[in-house]
Amino acid sequence: MAFFDAAAMMKGLRGAYASGKTRSYEWRVSQLKALLKLMSFHEKEIVDALRSDLSKPELESFLQEIALLKESCGLALKELHRWMAPEKVKTMMTTFPSSAEIVPEPLGVVLVISAWNYPFLLSLDPVIGAIAAGNAVVLKPSEISPATSSVLAKLLGQYMDCSAVKVIEGAVPETTALLEQKWDKIFYTGNGKVARIVSAAAAKHLTPLVLELGGKSPVIVDSNVDLKVAARRIIAGKWGCNNGQACVSPDYAITTKEFAPDLIDTLRSELEKFYGKDPLKSNDLSRIVNSNHFNRLSKLLDDDKISGKIIHGGQKDIANLKIAPTILLDVPEDSLIMEEEIFGPLLPILTVNNVEDSFNIIKSKDKPLAAYLFTNNKKLKENFIRNISAGGLVINDTTMHLAVPTLPFGGVGESGMGAYHGKFSFDAFSHKKAVLLRSFAGDLSSRYPPYTPKKLNL
Ligand code: NAD
Repeated sequence: MAFFDAAAMMKGLRGAYASGKTRSYEWRVSQLKALLKLMSFHEKEIVDALRSDLSKPELESFLQEIALLKESCGLALKELHRWMAPEKVKTMMTTFPSSAEIVPEPLGVVLVISAWNYPFLLSLDPVIGAIAAGNAVVLKPSEISPATSSVLAKLLGQYMDCSAVKVIEGAVPETTALLEQKWDKIFYTGNGKVARIVSAAAAKHLTPLVLELGGKSPVIVDSNVDLKVAARRIIAGKWGCNNGQACVSPDYAITTKEFAPDLIDTLRSELEKFYGKDPLKSNDLSRIVNSNHFNRLSKLLDDDKISGKIIHGGQKDIANLKIAPTILLDVPEDSLIMEEEIFGPLLPILTVNNVEDSFNIIKSKDKPLAAYLFTNNKKLKENFIRNISAGGLVINDTTMHLAVPTLPFGGVGESGMGAYHGKFSFDAFSHKKAVLLRSFAGDLSSRYPPYTPKKLNL
């Protein structure tokens, strides 16, 4: 049984939306400013919640959640006038004389279901898009990050217009109750299995969806690179992003047999510089979110098929749910660790004879959310861009594309559908209404019956 009356809540939201207030420029600006204020005044509370949920290091919380959101909000405030403006487009002879424009309009009442790993960012970034586009919105944060969920509920309740912006906390029963309602858009972040449940619920009402999912994001390392920089950027994207619990973290690496020893040595030495000799004691590594995920990752490491393949790390601290940065070499393709998204601090390295052979490995799997390549070879870069399908590609870095708001962020195939960030967030929550304006002049009789042969010859 649901713990709240979803139908009554929806009725209230529909009323707020129908009043027209969320459509006004002023309302959108006031809500975006309220979000900025909430983040500035309560930064410590937010960082504390993230520490409680994930032992997320303060700098990661700030840079990877709060600062990104402030930028996102700031950009929406700066660009909102332009985004809301109708876009004039060309017309054809067939409608002469006429003019045409594309008018963005809000979709109505939308639902955002978010995940636990970046619980603040992944909750509020879509909400920024929904508000900027003029919708009423309900946010359902993840129950797996309860401290952040509760801070979100409290602060949004305090700062936002609660008639049109709501937070519903809870797990499967609450989400199920929400999904029974008819939404104008559902924006879901999480795994593909639940995405199918969300999609089935949305289909009943023909509700459009954005699905922000994950997958096995590969990183290819060529031999002609600045290895120290490459290693540091791989570490930053893997262990420096929530200890690998990030949708865009490199899931596995591929390099040549010849180059693997150099890559491994450099990763090892840089890891030691970042996290010390005993990384389980480091305050700069997030813990695994809960014992379910800790056990899931332990199972990947206990798989008989990878016995003897751990070449670095592997230490675990079950009491504190910590797993050290772990590197594995040449694990079999049919091992558990290569069959599912790792979403944690384990990095298998596969080796190939020729760096371009890595493309076949990537193409043999579902399309990932991101794919990375480190190289100085121009031809290889071009082939990578042409041949590898993924939500996004980055050359000579990892994860940083998500900090570029002029790029759409989203998956393809199993890694998701639709995209957001910057103007793409506004578009994700808008309908682009086609408007054709004609006058009474130039009314050609040829379009009207009777369709005489003379008209046909025109
Ligand atoms: P999660 O467990 O927090 O679940 C996501 C949301 O789904 C939660 O709000 C949860 O309450 C809801 N949910 C769970 N079971 C449900 C059910 N049976 N019915 C309805 N709702 C349900 O997060 P997760 O799925 O463990 O997240 C990790 C996955 O998300 C990974 O695959 C990761 O790659 C992906 N991810 C993607 C992005 C992205 O932006 N593309 C970002 C973060 C995570």
